[in-house]
Amino acid sequence: TISFGQGYDFFYFVQQWPGSYCDTKKSCCYPTTGKPPANFTIHGLWPNYNNGSYPSNCNADSPYNATKISDLLGKMEVDWPTLACPTNDGTRFWTHEWEKHGTCSETVLDQHSYFEAALNIKNKVNILKVLEDAGIKPDDTFYKERQIREAIKAGIGYTPAITCNTDPTKNRQLSEIYLCVDASGKDLIECPKFPNRCKRPPLQFPIF
Ligand code: 5GP
Ligand code: 5GP
Ligand code: 5GP
Repeated sequence: TISFGQGYDFFYFVQQWPGSYCDTKKSCCYPTTGKPPANFTIHGLWPNYNNGSYPSNCNADSPYNATKISDLLGKMEVDWPTLACPTNDGTRFWTHEWEKHGTCSETVLDQHSYFEAALNIKNKVNILKVLEDAGIKPDDTFYKERQIREAIKAGIGYTPAITCNTDPTKNRQLSEIYLCVDASGKDLIECPKFPNRCKRPPLQFPIF
């Protein structure tokens, strides 16, 4: 029998807040396709084990191939833009995410299915709308982690993990939202295991 990598138990679906990525000492660069909309964007869909560890770079013989996802690239530019410098069209970010993470779920989701799965989840859960409906807005205000977590849980039915980073003046700010997805890549689930989340003090939700 042939063995396919190390398997995995579930996915983290990770979204980044562009305002927090850019409001750092490193700063950011808008992609060549233009400034992304002021919305959460995809960081990645990451195969993970229930114990918190994860496989990575599972198949060196499966390079990122843009021609396999040519029908998705327009959506990728909107929902999965890169903010890293130097500026580029996103190819570097998508290559990294496919090679490091996507290749580890390849027995279940081929390259097209993998990127499509991430875009589909993004379109199922509108985190920004859920937060705004709860009065939590990206206007440089500070919010408690618990308030953000409970608003998302109430709005989408699943508990997220919130991570933070720091701006150049050392304020902590809402960086990323983790949700969990079953191994098929289709349905949200309660997380079997949470990453280290950001608790006190309150987090800034910066303007983008
Ligand atoms: P950081 O150290 O910035 O949190 O994570 C760096 C990179 O390691 C992430 O972009 C991601 O590729 C990977 N990573 C970090 N934490 C996890 C995790 O809990 N699960 C998985 N699958 N990857 C992770
Ligand atoms: P991870 O290993 O954390 O999944 O992915 C982070 C890698 O993707 C880093 O090498 C980072 O430079 C690159 N990257 C490119 N664009 C972005 C972006 O918009 N956000 C994040 N978090 N990483 C990006
Ligand atoms: P990646 O190696 O693994 O290049 O980046 C390492 C860390 O630096 C990741 O957390 C990534 O998101 C961040 N990073 C890389 N390039 C940039 C950038 O141009 N701007 C910002 N703000 N962060 C970056």
